[in-house]
Order: sequence, then C-alpha cells, then structure tokens
Amino acid sequence: MSYRGIRGHDGPIALLKRAVAKGRVAHAYLFCGMDGIGKKKVATAFARALLCREARDGEGCGVCGTCLKIERACHPDVLTLAPEGAFIKIGEIRGLMEMMALHPLEGPRRVVIVDEADRMNPPAANALLKTLEEPTAANTLILVTSRPLQLPPTILSRCQRLTFSPLAAAEVALHLREEAGLDGETAAFLAAAAGGSIRHALLLHKEGYLKRCEEIVLCAADETRPRPLRVLSLISLLGRERDNLAEALGILKVFFRDALVLAALGPEAPVVLRERRREAEGTAVRLGTKALLRNCRLLDEALRLIEQNANKTLTLETTVFKLAL
Ligand SMILES: [Zn+2]
Repeated sequence: MSYRGIRGHDGPIALLKRAVAKGRVAHAYLFCGMDGIGKKKVATAFARALLCREARDGEGCGVCGTCLKIERACHPDVLTLAPEGAFIKIGEIRGLMEMMALHPLEGPRRVVIVDEADRMNPPAANALLKTLEEPTAANTLILVTSRPLQLPPTILSRCQRLTFSPLAAAEVALHLREEAGLDGETAAFLAAAAGGSIRHALLLHKEGYLKRCEEIVLCAADETRPRPLRVLSLISLLGRERDNLAEALGILKVFFRDALVLAALGPEAPVVLRERRREAEGTAVRLGTKALLRNCRLLDEALRLIEQNANKTLTLETTVFKLAL
C-alpha cells in the first residue's frame, strides 16, 4: 500500500488516512518535525492517496499510472517547491499561485508541497497567505518544515498542523541495516548518535563519523603524553572540526559518559563507543567518577553555548582547558 515502507509516524498517517476515507481533507496542512525523518515521504504518499483513482481505505494503490507518476515526481498535478539558495522567493510563490488558479490537468485535484517552508522570505510568505485566505477545493497545500516557529502566525493559524516525532533509535537502525546494508553494530551505533533522524544517521555514516570518534577518543585518552600536550592536540584536532564542532564535542561527551558508566558500575557496564572500551576503562580508572561527571557537565555547557551562537574558538579553548584529561 501507499504508506508502506515509511518508518514510524503512525499517528499522522492514521489521521491523513481517516481524512481521505471520510472525504474531509483540509485545504492546507503543516507537517512539522525534525529534519530527515520522512515528512516529505508522508506528503508524497498523501498526494497518492488524494489523486489515485483506485484509492482504498484512504491510501493510494501504489501501482497505477497516477501513483507511479507521483512516485517518480513527474505528475503534473503534484507540484513541489523547495528553496533554491537561501530562500523561497516571491517570484516562485507567484508562479505557484498562477498554476493553482488553473484547473488540475489530469484529475479533480492538485497537491502542492512546499518543502522547507520556513525559508520563505517575508514577501513570499505574504503572497502565500493570500492563497490560504481564499482556498479552492481543487488545491491541497502541504507546508513541510522543521522550524514552524519561523513561519508567520497568520500562516500557521490557517493550516492543520501535524507533528512528526523523531524516530526511535531501533527504527533508524533497522533502516540502516535493511536499506543501507550496514552491519548491526555500526547501524546501532550511528542510530544512537543520530537523534531519531535517518538522514542524519546516513550523513554521519558518509562523513566517516566512526573514524572521527576514534581520532578524538585516542587523542583525549593518550596516556603516553603529559596533560598540557594532550590539551593542545585536542584543541587543534577539534578546531579542525569548526563546522561540526557541536558534533565533535558530542563525541567527546559520549566517551566521558562511557568512562563514567564504567567507573560507577564496573567493567561489565554497557558502553556506546564499544570499539574504544579499553580507552574508556583506562580513563575511568585515571579520572574517577567526580572528574568525569564534571567533564560531562562542562561539555553540556559548551554545547549549549554553541547552540546559542557563542564564539566557537573561545568556547572550545576554555572548555578543553577546564577538562580533566
Ligand atoms: Zn494508484
């Protein structure tokens, strides 16, 4: 069936199926939730449900010409708009509105998906608002966003809002095993680091996350060198990760948390960075629970500051100087 293959999101899918089955489809929807969890996949499946002539129980059949065209993104009545560059501009929204004023080409209805809708600049958002104020039965609009609060309240109030939750780590791991062919251990590790987003997990895999974890941990746990040298090389290593500093500090935090768990619960305790268990054991013995707990807190604080756009170099240096190593 049409929603098959989509992981998670049972709640929003059930609601959309009911709306189609009962013929009570809203003019405009807002799909919100973190990046890379499948919101657009659900939007496409919803488009199939709305346009497929063989639709049953609120789902498209998935095999007819209409469903296949939507699947291949070449159905003339399913329009998708996404930012080209930093913003969605007014010209693009105007073009969309001109299309929406015409009759659909193949069926009774048209579906318009605006991806990353929060990136409409104010004139574009104002133009779209006009469409929302004068809805027509022929058009169903779906705004997809991970940052709904960036959209004007006038737009939010005119859309039916569906909130998509992050996926469970087990769902992400299953996807990585079945669709990306990763082994169980790597899949579980990346899923744990990805915070519920399949896209983020695949990105971590592509960017050599495991190798970076290894470099950072080996640098922090290198007992052969005196502390001042370790501090400097850790700053230099993490400094190279400028664009991904939060992620790199996150890795360090996971390592210290592993050591903390080992220090508190003993050598049989489960750890996240399994490949680096030996280093975590050494660090647990060397630093003890109190210093490890303090390290985790320092890194939490650094992550919070980076989230708030603090100076990255300064945050990195002051944090690493304070760490017990
Ligand atoms: Zn179909």
